[in-house]
Amino acid sequence: MSPIDAGAGAHRSDFAVAANDLVKVYGEGDTGVRALDGVGVGFARGRFTAIMGPSGSGKSTLMHCLAGLDTATSGTITVGDTELTGLSDRELTAVRRDRIGFVFQAFNLLPQLTAEQNITLPLDLAGKPVDRSRLEHIVDVLGIGTRLSHRPGELSGGQQQRVALARALVSRPEVIFADEPTGNLDSRSGAEVLGFLRDSVRDFGQTVVMVTHDAGAASHADRVLVLGDGQVVEDIDHPTGESVTHALRTLDGAR
Ligand code: ADP
Repeated sequence: MSPIDAGAGAHRSDFAVAANDLVKVYGEGDTGVRALDGVGVGFARGRFTAIMGPSGSGKSTLMHCLAGLDTATSGTITVGDTELTGLSDRELTAVRRDRIGFVFQAFNLLPQLTAEQNITLPLDLAGKPVDRSRLEHIVDVLGIGTRLSHRPGELSGGQQQRVALARALVSRPEVIFADEPTGNLDSRSGAEVLGFLRDSVRDFGQTVVMVTHDAGAASHADRVLVLGDGQVVEDIDHPTGESVTHALRTLDGAR
């Protein structure tokens, strides 16, 4: 499937990220695993998409390839107008650093730095100025303004994930990839983080792609892609907890 088919009325330039006929094979010959089996999908700008599917369906592989953390066996990926295929490691690193934000299940904050230093680290490393008014706006929205001088060890899990989200947002990335962002949080903190991801789409026009196995978390998204055996098997607009659960049950029943 080409990404042009993936969103009604969408054009290639509307996509923050797109994959075309993406194949990823781990290993070789009879023992090779086809983790992605011809995925074509476009992620429209300013939308929140969740990727779901059973364990082993290819979610992590797809996210890692889209984010330039892994290379596909064949097919193409574009971030904005840049095709990732064929970029050198150095160029890929620059794309990841300058144009992509990450939020991981394990927060991935540096323990010896304060919250604020963690938030500005990617910009500092890139030698870019910090837009103070944007930073203040983000930490205000996220409710961590009074926590900026604390180190991660002095913050709750929910606060640490909000710091990670602020870090992802502050550089205005073209897309944020969130990998099970609520996996380490209690349900209340998880709901808050999902609410902030939603708000970042609404208030900052952020594009967010989130991998989750939680139907409730996915129902915060504008769209849910369900993977099965390395292919997109469902593409749900305006998902609800029920529609997502139903799609996953149907997929389970078909296996
Ligand atoms: P999910 O994130 O949906 O659980 P993955 O993308 O992790 O699925 O895995 C998809 C398939 O690829 C699975 O069959 C998995 O065992 C296989 N796989 C993932 N990573 C590797 C790897 N590094 N080497 C070999 N097989 C892998």
